[in-house]
Amino acid sequence: MSDIDSLKQRVIDAVDARRDDLVRIADTIHAHPEVAFQEHESAALLSGMLEENGFAVERQVAGLETSFVATMSDHRDSPRIAFLAEYDALPGLGHACGHNLIATMALGAGLAVKSVLPDLGGTIQVIGTPAEEGGCGKGLMVRAGVFDGLDAAMMIHPSWRNMTRRRSLTSFKVEVEYFGKPAHAGAGPDKGINALDAMVAMFSAVGLLRQQLRDDARVHGIITHGGDAPNIIPEYTSARLGVRAEDTAYATEVLEKVRACAQAGALATGARLEFKVADVFYESILPNPVLADLVDANMAVLGIEVRLPEPKERMGSTDMGNVSQVVPALHPYIDISPDGVGHTVEFTVASRSPAGHEAMIVAAKVLAMTAVDLMAVPDNVTRVHEAFEKQKAEQSETS
Ligand SMILES: [Zn+2]
Ligand SMILES: [Zn+2]
Repeated sequence: MSDIDSLKQRVIDAVDARRDDLVRIADTIHAHPEVAFQEHESAALLSGMLEENGFAVERQVAGLETSFVATMSDHRDSPRIAFLAEYDALPGLGHACGHNLIATMALGAGLAVKSVLPDLGGTIQVIGTPAEEGGCGKGLMVRAGVFDGLDAAMMIHPSWRNMTRRRSLTSFKVEVEYFGKPAHAGAGPDKGINALDAMVAMFSAVGLLRQQLRDDARVHGIITHGGDAPNIIPEYTSARLGVRAEDTAYATEVLEKVRACAQAGALATGARLEFKVADVFYESILPNPVLADLVDANMAVLGIEVRLPEPKERMGSTDMGNVSQVVPALHPYIDISPDGVGHTVEFTVASRSPAGHEAMIVAAKVLAMTAVDLMAVPDNVTRVHEAFEKQKAEQSETS
């Protein structure tokens, strides 16, 4: 067995030795689901466990109460490798995206790499990243510089298939409000300005716009306030929309077209428009190909077969995209359930099933093995950075 293979065997054994603990922690987080920015118990459990095991823990980084950075260094500062822990749940559905498993695999991988760190030298971090669902927590942490200087940031997301190179969509969140004038709907409708008509006109215009959009674009939304009573001409309406596309340049173009649709509603009715775009947005992911090759090879060692994305792969958005725009990153998927991409009751069940537990253990091993590849072979780190620079250059050429 080569040196690197024996180091990998040691991290595999270290994960196996903690298997029962990791499953228990995954199930504890699952049993106490906490939504975006409210993940107090989950963050305390994970960061406490890392602290007990000798990691230096900084809490509430980037001004987020439920974030943390746990660090362990030996001999040298670099390479600096981070495993990212997500732990937010979905309102009403609990852990329907399997973030309890993501949290626990990051913990398991961090503790496993700790066991070989004296032989390798370098820095390992487990970074607790709140509010993936809707809050773009990692975007806020990127802005605060939390990931600066990393040689690799990695996590693995539960899914219905094993895939390393799937991309993700840029996603803007928009709030639309119309301010009209109330009036008696029977006796004096001509005295009113109908804020609901403005909203309906906007949704109709967006519906027509879709025909002119590229296949990867998505515009979707809900009306959050439609009026107060049917016999009053609505004075105020509001909606929330998502605008997405494969790259930020095109998503921005679509966003401006949607803004024009909203302005059309105001113009047609006389209602006043407020169109607010959330200032952090989900950026599209750049899956680092060198990290992907290393992960694929480690998956294969553990008997996991990895698929390539379909030519017309359908995608969601993740705030891991924001991280991948500033440091080399990878966000593979691991199979826990045949039930699609999550956000369902069935996926909540899968996130604490034997298959979910097994995938979490395998993922912890793969993350730790990949860190060994980077810490033991300096050339891998160089190639990771070269690939990152190339992707960034290609991206700016096409935008
Ligand atoms: Zn999700
Ligand atoms: Zn998720």
